[in-house]
Amino acid sequence: APGLYLVATPIGNLGDVTLRALKTLAAANAVLAEDTRVTKTLLAHYGITTPLVAYHEHTGEAVRDRMIARLREGQSLALVSDAGTPLVSDPGYRLVEAAIAEGLPVIPIPGASAALAALVVAGLPTDRFFFEGFLPAKSGPRRSRLEALASIPGTLVLYEAPHRIAESLADAAAVLGPRPAAVARELTKLHETVRRGRLDELAARYAQEGAPKGEIVLLIAPATEEERQAEAEIGLDDKLKAAL
Ligand code: SAM
Repeated sequence: APGLYLVATPIGNLGDVTLRALKTLAAANAVLAEDTRVTKTLLAHYGITTPLVAYHEHTGEAVRDRMIARLREGQSLALVSDAGTPLVSDPGYRLVEAAIAEGLPVIPIPGASAALAALVVAGLPTDRFFFEGFLPAKSGPRRSRLEALASIPGTLVLYEAPHRIAESLADAAAVLGPRPAAVARELTKLHETVRRGRLDELAARYAQEGAPKGEIVLLIAPATEEERQAEAEIGLDDKLKAAL
């Protein structure tokens, strides 16, 4: 059927692709890929020969317009990213927005996403969570961002680069205090590891060991009820002082 299919691909282990994803990729008129070389390898592994088109948000309006035109003609296009679910810290939002504005069908083909895979093994509350994606690379803006996240009443889910994990953990410990946290690395791959501990302990460990290898999701427990209460009281104090 025609439409824009948002197809999840594996986050490491090539077995983590659904039957429906493979069927959709094989049947599409084209596969729109963030990096055509990466996706070519995936398609080759499953013997799929659908033509590839490079798509990232900065390929700009020209490519987007061409894709919308193809959808209007009744073609089916499959959007994938290098790994996991497209649009989750990955390109696609602008294209989906444009397709919806044109009244064209948009169909999800769900599957792997590092955020959810990490959340469920972290050992932190899963009933409520907040996906933040990547924190700013510089410490100042990163701390401001963490301050803005401090009172969110759910587990924080963050993507982080391995060379920044020690610094980010240290900033998180400084801003959020010694909350329980987890570092999930290389999920579904050979060196899959999940380290659980308090933010300050994890920060000290990574500072000592140096940058790990691979891909990382950082998860941080929400503030406890007492911490939130204390925070609210401080806030109130400040407001009272400001009013006087
Ligand atoms: N769209 C992808 C998804 O749904 O998971 C995420 C894309 S984002 C550009 C890439 C980041 O996801 C990495 O820097 C890392 O933080 C996280 N990630 C991807 N694969 C991972 C894996 N196998 N283990 C841990 N984290 C992973």
